[in-house]
Amino acid sequence: MYDDNNIFAKILRGEIPNTTVLEDDSTLAFDDISPQAPVHALVIPKNKYVSLNDFAEKASDAEIANLVRAAVKVADKKGVKEDGYRLLVNIGPNSHQEVPHLHFHVLGGRKLGPMLVKG
Ligand code: 5GP
Repeated sequence: MYDDNNIFAKILRGEIPNTTVLEDDSTLAFDDISPQAPVHALVIPKNKYVSLNDFAEKASDAEIANLVRAAVKVADKKGVKEDGYRLLVNIGPNSHQEVPHLHFHVLGGRKLGPMLVKG
């Protein structure tokens, strides 16, 4: 069940400001408010999808393609496409997904180290 009061729904409605990196018909990308790397942007679909599971089930092929392409465009715009970056998606409780609106994290601008903290 999608929560219309989640923080990204408020950003999409213009109720909360954001620093936009890229916008098109179905996608918005903006800087993360609490960056974990020199480049940390979030790429979200404009339609209401709780998670990647929800998106894979319900989104059109065009929306899916657009979101993936937008993530690469964001990496390019942020200057990390060639040096390398990490695309990260948290899905559900075990992943520590905090905001229940699908978002891709685009992280880069330094060596990011191993993918997961061990233990
Ligand atoms: P998650 O843990 O759900 O994968 O990631 C949520 C991300 O949203 C976090 O990196 C957090 O810093 C970011 N975030 C939370 N609230 C806001 C906000 O109001 N504005 C922006 N730009 N990012 C936010």
